[in-house]
Amino acid sequence: MKITFLGTGSYPTKARNSQSTLIQFDNNKAVIVDCGEGTQRQLMQLSFIPEIEAIFLTHHHIDHIAGLPGLIMYLYSITKKRIKIIAPGKALEISRVLVKALVEFIENPADYIEVCESSSWRFGDVKANTFRTFHTIDSVGYSFKHKGVKFTICGDLSFQNREQRYHIIKAIEGSDSAVIDIVHLKDKDSLELLEYFRDINKILIPTPIGRDELIKKALKINGTIIPNDFDFLQI
Ligand SMILES: [Zn+2]
Repeated sequence: MKITFLGTGSYPTKARNSQSTLIQFDNNKAVIVDCGEGTQRQLMQLSFIPEIEAIFLTHHHIDHIAGLPGLIMYLYSITKKRIKIIAPGKALEISRVLVKALVEFIENPADYIEVCESSSWRFGDVKANTFRTFHTIDSVGYSFKHKGVKFTICGDLSFQNREQRYHIIKAIEGSDSAVIDIVHLKDKDSLELLEYFRDINKILIPTPIGRDELIKKALKINGTIIPNDFDFLQI
């Protein structure tokens, strides 16, 4: 599995695009998770554009969804195939409206598939599962399993109590690598979570801006990575 970080910021900055992650599987299929503003242009800068099977959205906030119409239009223009948008209810509803309004000259460029907090989805020998992330009313994270490798991407996550924390830990457990967003967590909770998973690669996206002390401590924990746009990881 190859993971390419198309965007590693929250809002766009000179150095970082909004969030988006490309996952390529050994069967030549690929998916994109989240689609911040400018994802289309980030994708164009790769030397090779893989066959994108679906776009998974974690939730409806601007930094995860604003690039969707441009990306859909671009992918449709090169493949002439409808792409699947897989998302929880609110993100799916907004995606439909955005794509319909802004890509009106292409009839039905996308199929819309709603996930709930425990959906699973399969294409070929790749399996995707959802889990709740307690950030918005229906936000989810995704785990992808392929050939014995598990990669988890949380999107924005939050937990208010021990049960929710336990739920997040269970979802990440068994992963070889995981994108963990600590931006909405307190420093103490962030460091405890990273420490709990000290034996796996932990990728911090987006970078917690203005929390230099937290970053310093997080980077001391084995396996913590803060990638730049276009960095990639083979797992
Ligand atoms: Zn959010």
